[in-house]
Amino acid sequence: MADTGGIRKFKNAADYIKNFAVRQEIEKYLPGGVHFIDEERINRCIAEIAERRADPAAVREVIAKSETTRETLQPEETALLMAAASDPDLFEEMRAAADRIKHAVYDNRIVMFAPLYMSNLCVNGCKYCGFRSGNARQLRRALTMDELKEEIDVLAGRIGHKRLIAVYGEHPTTSTEYIAESIETCYGRQVAAPRSGAKVGIRRVNVNAAPLPVADLRVLRSVGIGTFQVFQETYNRRLYGEMHPAWSVKGNYDWRTTCFHRCMEAGVDDVGLGVLYGLCDWRFELLATVLHARDLEKWFNIGPHTLSFPRLEPASGTRVPEESPWLIDNATFARIIVIARLSVPYTGIIVTARENAASRNRVLDHGMTQLDCSSNIAIKGYSDFENEAHQEKERQQFLLGDVRSIDEMVRYLAGRGMITSFCTAGYRCGRTGGCIMDALKTGREGKFCKINAVLTFREWLDDFASDGTRKIGDALIEKELAGIREWLPKFYPTVLKQYEATCRGERDLFF
Ligand code: SAM
Ligand code: SF4
Repeated sequence: MADTGGIRKFKNAADYIKNFAVRQEIEKYLPGGVHFIDEERINRCIAEIAERRADPAAVREVIAKSETTRETLQPEETALLMAAASDPDLFEEMRAAADRIKHAVYDNRIVMFAPLYMSNLCVNGCKYCGFRSGNARQLRRALTMDELKEEIDVLAGRIGHKRLIAVYGEHPTTSTEYIAESIETCYGRQVAAPRSGAKVGIRRVNVNAAPLPVADLRVLRSVGIGTFQVFQETYNRRLYGEMHPAWSVKGNYDWRTTCFHRCMEAGVDDVGLGVLYGLCDWRFELLATVLHARDLEKWFNIGPHTLSFPRLEPASGTRVPEESPWLIDNATFARIIVIARLSVPYTGIIVTARENAASRNRVLDHGMTQLDCSSNIAIKGYSDFENEAHQEKERQQFLLGDVRSIDEMVRYLAGRGMITSFCTAGYRCGRTGGCIMDALKTGREGKFCKINAVLTFREWLDDFASDGTRKIGDALIEKELAGIREWLPKFYPTVLKQYEATCRGERDLFF
């Protein structure tokens, strides 16, 4: 059990709303009251994009910088890429470079994860979200620990997931104690795999929740949280204020924007940034993301572990997702992914099943690294519906766009020469935060990724795959092993030993 002694307690929801954000923990990271999201600088960049026709030589210089240094670009350089993205030939050059960088940093693997919705209780009033407190149509509940175990039995025991993103509304009932207990419950559950009978379970729990104070983040660190993910929704302070009422905890823009600084202070050094695309001009959001990453690097020498790209989706009891003037089309979404990969070259890029299948297929070679499948975003959605893609607006936050099963997706990726990875080794070997930054930038991590992808893919094929998928997977693994033998001839026998042990039924072997 986690030591939760340092966590503040609140009398009721009103007390929580009023007192949750800690002023000193905001001010510490905004010295002199100056915010690192420099709106003037962003707006200057946007004005220049409109004025200039991108000079191909200058664009190529930025691409080369990104590819050779793998350092985060300056916003002005990102703006140049934005100006170039409407030229089809230059965009193709950018896309190809984004794909090369992704391969150099992460190899040809795509990491698989699943969302797990823990609760839709929420004290906030975000105007685009079905979970907001004023939405009487939403059926409210928070999973009990027994219900959570049932969810894990399906996620880990029937689908074969190893990595979760657990999602929480913001509410005193689902406090840090609840989050910590739920992480421990996920790690503690072991079930038998259907094909092999091997004991399987969840190995990495990432969390998407509201910003927390340092003391609470330390508790999550103590129970082995993976990545802490908080989406900024919009970096534009005015629009942020319009979407998030001032009376709500979430109405505090500075509390949210300084959340990852507090994470780093607390030792939670894998952080996941994101923007809810469709609330504001996408160029503003991406430029602000670059500034956010740079500020974290400045303070801590560590940038974002991942970037996420949720788009506004239809949700219960709100018209914002249909009526916002800033909604983006699929072509723009594809540009965003490419420019993000070039702008923050070392980061993981997540594209979730909110996107439809065509949109996800399109961006697979644009630099993305992680996706979810067989997803269900209803509370208790997995165990109630035994993983049928059940779409119900009143139980879910919004409706999913890509309802392909994991088996289908694994096959699809293999057909495009990509290996599905269930690897969770990084944080369990201490390869997080600053330790992983260098490994990513130099391409060292990509080598671990490849080997661990092969081992975990072997596990999944033997434990869960259909016969057809297993055959395709076997052929892919043979090719991958041949590749490993070629680049790491001396190390190959050690890899082979672990691989053969995995084939014999040993589990959770990694480098
Ligand atoms: N309650 C926490 C918070 O808001 O930070 C975390 C959970 S919230 C359910 C996770 C994310 O869902 C939000 O950060 C937001 O970006 C996203 N979201 C909310 N409404 C959405 C919608 N209509 N379409 C797509 N994503 C949405
Ligand atoms: Fe609550 Fe998060 Fe939804 Fe806002 S986005 S209403 S904070 S669950």
